[in-house]
Amino acid sequence: MRYVSTRGTAPELGFSDVLLAGLATDGGLYMPATWPQLPDLSHTRTYAQAAAAIMTPFVSGDIADDVFAKLCDEAYATFRHDAVVPLVQIGANEWLLEQFHGPTLAFKDVALQLVGRLFDHVLAERGQRVTIVGATSGDTGSAAIDGVKACSNVDIVILYPQGRTSDVQRRQMTTVDSPNVHTVAVEGTFDDCQDLVKAMFNDAPFRDRMNLSAVNSINWARVMAQIVYYVTASRSLGATADAGVTFSVPTGNFGNVLSGWIARTMGAPIDDFIVASNSNDILTRFINDNDMSARDVMPTLSPSMDIQVSSNFERLLFEMNGRDGGMTSEQMQRFRHSGSLQVEPDQVATWITPTFSAAKIDDVGTLAEIRRVYEASGQLIDPHTATGTAAVQALGATADGHPVVTLATAHPAKFPDAVFAATGVHPPLPAHLADLFDRVERTNLVANDLAAVESFVERAVWR
Ligand SMILES: *Cc1c(COP(=O)(O)O)cnc(C)c1O
Repeated sequence: MRYVSTRGTAPELGFSDVLLAGLATDGGLYMPATWPQLPDLSHTRTYAQAAAAIMTPFVSGDIADDVFAKLCDEAYATFRHDAVVPLVQIGANEWLLEQFHGPTLAFKDVALQLVGRLFDHVLAERGQRVTIVGATSGDTGSAAIDGVKACSNVDIVILYPQGRTSDVQRRQMTTVDSPNVHTVAVEGTFDDCQDLVKAMFNDAPFRDRMNLSAVNSINWARVMAQIVYYVTASRSLGATADAGVTFSVPTGNFGNVLSGWIARTMGAPIDDFIVASNSNDILTRFINDNDMSARDVMPTLSPSMDIQVSSNFERLLFEMNGRDGGMTSEQMQRFRHSGSLQVEPDQVATWITPTFSAAKIDDVGTLAEIRRVYEASGQLIDPHTATGTAAVQALGATADGHPVVTLATAHPAKFPDAVFAATGVHPPLPAHLADLFDRVERTNLVANDLAAVESFVERAVWR
């Protein structure tokens, strides 16, 4: 498979180069040159086998089929449920797709367990080594660390704002005892951490010396790995081209829902998508009112959706523009200057309205929904998941007996305060993390200063 940039001028690359590059050199995001159709899955018995079959066309030419199948097996063996992402029924025609049985209890594990192994494989083949740097406000850092902690060719340095992550989230990062894992508590905010990471990438000599790399949510391999569960879940529910399912997706970056759209494009029996936003509702305003204008980020009970700009939307925009990279590039430049994306009403009518509906759920609505689902079904859900099921309710999506699947993106024990406030129940951590609060924390307090952080990274990585 060859990959093209959404901004049209970066060179076409194969899968392995796209994996390591992340962002294209023209600032765009990589997309496959063509969309393969889904393979026959009747011979697949496990999630890992289905995953290998569905994704093989995207890696072909770069990774051998048997190697890729083995990496999928290893990645999904880290999940503590045989189904990897099980469906749980919570209403007559309503399901949750539980995506939180991986090592760090959130949906990012589904992609990052595979991406870490893909990195290690490609780097070993090339005799290279990289330093992954990233900033996190919570979920992404721990999922990235867990994905690469056993990799021989990757060092990872994750910056987080000192005192501003939850205890569970911090401990999931700082208790990993692996020589290639380094956490940095920055004396500053999440934005300071992000600025420091950007500054490290912009320091060309440092970037080249350390061979810096990233695994952020615009990396194609993450989007690719998320296609699989849309296919397996719709198949499990017996959906067909004439009678498909609806997915409700709690989203911020448009990453998860974009993967669903790709699954549908490849032939999965999916009718449409509900985009669930918290109070940071740029996507809901766009889908309902063609208003994609950035506003200040507001902290909410669902922090992993506290996003101002939905970076993966650029990939759908590229499709809406008939894959015209020049046009997409111009729109994105204007968006950067004006803070507002202009899309033609007829493009919205063709690409958005028939396929996406959306609802914004604020914190009050989120707590009420956690309580409602608990009383109705006995299930404890986390605040991110609650925006998804609340959006299903708000839009009456199950009214005509239509099957609806909400993606349960985090384990309730990852956000115990909100769950307790809503239900009076303390959600217990799963057995593999039950001793999380007894484990030894290792972290490094560093000033909010580029020279201090760079010097830490150099000392940590050249151990
Ligand atoms: C990252 C995350 C999301 C949002 O994912 P997108 O890539 O923005 O669609 C939702 N819920 C949880 C728990 C997450 O960690």
